[in-house]
Amino acid sequence: MTARLRLQPEAIGMGMTSQRVRDRLIERLRGNGIRDERVLNAIRTVPRHLYVDEALATRAYEDTALPIGHGQTISQPWVVAKMTEAILDGASPKKVLEVGTGSGYQATILAALGMEVYTVERIGELLRTARKRFRSLGLNVRSKHDDGRIGWPEEGPFDAIVVTAGAPALVDALKDQLGPGGTLVAPVGNASSQSLLKLRKQDDGSIEQTDLAPVVFVPLLSGLVD
Ligand code: SAH
Repeated sequence: MTARLRLQPEAIGMGMTSQRVRDRLIERLRGNGIRDERVLNAIRTVPRHLYVDEALATRAYEDTALPIGHGQTISQPWVVAKMTEAILDGASPKKVLEVGTGSGYQATILAALGMEVYTVERIGELLRTARKRFRSLGLNVRSKHDDGRIGWPEEGPFDAIVVTAGAPALVDALKDQLGPGGTLVAPVGNASSQSLLKLRKQDDGSIEQTDLAPVVFVPLLSGLVD
């Protein structure tokens, strides 16, 4: 898969956050077990500093979650890498659903890897900002303002589903929208600690579950916010 980004020099922002700073992030991810070169390359290419407030742009290539307003965060690069690697492991997902658009960064990484991305966000203002980013980078990401716990039934089944907010249990509606051979990654647990779970739906419909890592995500909530 190749990167599908239309990047203008000003969008890449090479002056502000040098290639050296980005390369250091890639080495850190590698050191922390990320092996898939396609994923590392997408993270190297996508300008993460455009997904946070200007005041935080200088911290955009640290391996850390950062605030994006409304009490939400852009996920830590390692977590984005781990989830992306999990859905690519032994599979080539084409149609992918993300629950929790947030800044739009994870959706952009998936789109940069050539996937057809559908993303759902409950906070309208975050979604509007993310859509501007998709547009300015020339990405064709489909999005809707809705409760992602219902998934996107009209567009399912999906080859992969990435849930970027934590819940005490896996949501059945999302499992149902996973196609045969499909992979779902989701943080499951209580507010202070979750496990990043990977579920693969076998051809006979049974599900194989793997615990990838302990993680901390913002909660998956109900109800829409403007
Ligand atoms: N993937 C995002 C991470 C954002 S944090 C990124 O790359 O920046 C998780 C996001 O999930 C938040 O924006 C939060 O508002 C959203 N969220 C929480 N519950 C949700 C739900 N039920 N439906 C859709 N989005 C939800």
